[in-house]
Amino acid sequence: MISVKSFEFNYFSVNTYILYDETGAAVLIDCGCFRREEEKELKEFVKERELTIEHLLCTHLHLDHVFGNDFADRAYGLSPRAHKADVEMLPSPQEQAKLFGIQDRIRSVPISSYLLSNEVIKFGISEIVVRPVPGHSPGSVIFYSRKDGFAIVGDTIFSGSIGRTDLWGGNHDVLVAAIKDKVLSLPDETILYPGHGPATHVLDERLNNPFL
Ligand SMILES: [Zn+2]
Ligand SMILES: [Zn+2]
Repeated sequence: MISVKSFEFNYFSVNTYILYDETGAAVLIDCGCFRREEEKELKEFVKERELTIEHLLCTHLHLDHVFGNDFADRAYGLSPRAHKADVEMLPSPQEQAKLFGIQDRIRSVPISSYLLSNEVIKFGISEIVVRPVPGHSPGSVIFYSRKDGFAIVGDTIFSGSIGRTDLWGGNHDVLVAAIKDKVLSLPDETILYPGHGPATHVLDERLNNPFL
């Protein structure tokens, strides 16, 4: 069974997730740690649970979701994977930082390989599936586990809200259609873990989300 641990990191209060199962195999998603204390918090959790992180995955390549890729590379030798559309259409993290008025030095880590639609990512005795949900960014994806009844949804949908579409390659109509097709079609009780804010359920969003 997959356990989900969330951390809240950096200027943008991004949710970083570690998924792990009883074998100790783990996946790191949207590594947003930025300050030393944040790196330490993540590191200590991994050490305490004796986890082996096998994959570094990005729901999309907005700055707040990739701040910690440099750290993940240094600490665990991980190289990030993301969807091709974000790699090709989004400015580099340094350029994004400038636009957000962030002065800190950011080292970007090259994407090692592209995440594919319906690709199955295995770790330990578990697996998650990649589902593209474009609109917040052109290459946004979610990671879904049917067996364990959850999805890591990045900035596509939030509790009571949806992702902004005014950034590079964003498209409101595309986002709403993709959420309806790929997220709200999941079983009612599926837990959605977004890139910011609290977790929610498919049924709650289908009934109550004012943007859908
Ligand atoms: Zn975003
Ligand atoms: Zn975000």
